[in-house]
Amino acid sequence: MVRAVYPGSFDPITFGHLDIIKRLLPLYDELIILVAQSDQKQYMFSADERAELIRQCLGKSNRVKVEAFSGLTVDYAKRANAQVIVRGLRAVADYEYEQAMANMNRQLAPNIETMIVFCRPEYNYVSSRLVKEVALNGGSLDDLVPAQVVKALKLKLKPKKK
Ligand code: ADP
Repeated sequence: MVRAVYPGSFDPITFGHLDIIKRLLPLYDELIILVAQSDQKQYMFSADERAELIRQCLGKSNRVKVEAFSGLTVDYAKRANAQVIVRGLRAVADYEYEQAMANMNRQLAPNIETMIVFCRPEYNYVSSRLVKEVALNGGSLDDLVPAQVVKALKLKLKPKKK
């Protein structure tokens, strides 16, 4: 049984993330989408909101689990008996960070392998950061994120009534 962890902020999940998940699913017996909660980062959505949005986008599958987690991915992976950590790579800009993280994770947990998946060219410009920027400025989100996420972004950005 091979279990993989796909960690990330997913703030919010995009078509780029979903494409990676869809391509990973046939390769592993179980895939855990690990929604990171770090005090060092500022998020638009809470970890529970991010996890719930992912669940809504994925639908039912007993081979995918979505969990919010605060701590080191390798600690989660060890506890969950996962052998693999998967990360996506968009462009050269992602490379150095992903390499440093993979090497650090190997140092911390030599038995857990990091696998890098190249993103499809049509999604290589899609990032959660840019999605939020487009949403803040009222641009079209339809090619970037699923309808549930468009709705959640609109709700989050709606001016609060006084
Ligand atoms: P993090 O803050 O951990 O980088 P992200 O949610 O930004 O969290 O990304 C999670 C993982 O998904 C990372 O490995 C990132 O490179 C990958 N990723 C992000 N956007 C895309 C995309 N459009 N296509 C493929 N992989 C992506």
